[in-house]
Amino acid sequence: MKSPRLPIAVQQAVMRTLREKLQQANQRLERHYPEPALVYQQRGTAAGTAWLERWEIRLNPVLLMENQQAFIDEVVPHELAHLLVWKHFGRVAPHGKEWKWMMESVLGIPARRTHQFEVHSVRSRTFPYRCRCQQHHLTVRRHNRVMRGETEYRCLQCGDILQPGEK
Ligand SMILES: [Zn+2]
Ligand SMILES: [Zn+2]
Repeated sequence: MKSPRLPIAVQQAVMRTLREKLQQANQRLERHYPEPALVYQQRGTAAGTAWLERWEIRLNPVLLMENQQAFIDEVVPHELAHLLVWKHFGRVAPHGKEWKWMMESVLGIPARRTHQFEVHSVRSRTFPYRCRCQQHHLTVRRHNRVMRGETEYRCLQCGDILQPGEK
């Protein structure tokens, strides 16, 4: 899929926030965590996702254009905090006390579990996934776990790892 074109000024504002927050975290944690990759390939209704092993933040370009300030104030720090928590503490609950601490004490951002505009659109939906043999529908919870890189699901029929998308 081609991403909608994002104005350079918006990309620069996002990048500036990411760098500022990372620098703030590195100072407070006394670490030198590297800058995550930032890609604008998040599809569907999620504002963004943190890919832990890839050290990557994916942002939804459509929602970003509609909610620029919220992305800068909240979404970018939210996803960065997931990456930092993973590096700092290892695998813990995604929105547990470590994440809350990272958001509030380290990044200085109120820790809400979801971005305000994500709540409406994501709740009670299923996400299409596919394998070789059939269409699957994952719950939001399972989908989020896949997006966070926490787990993979396999088709019980064919054994394929489920991939996001329509069959
Ligand atoms: Zn989160
Ligand atoms: Zn299958």
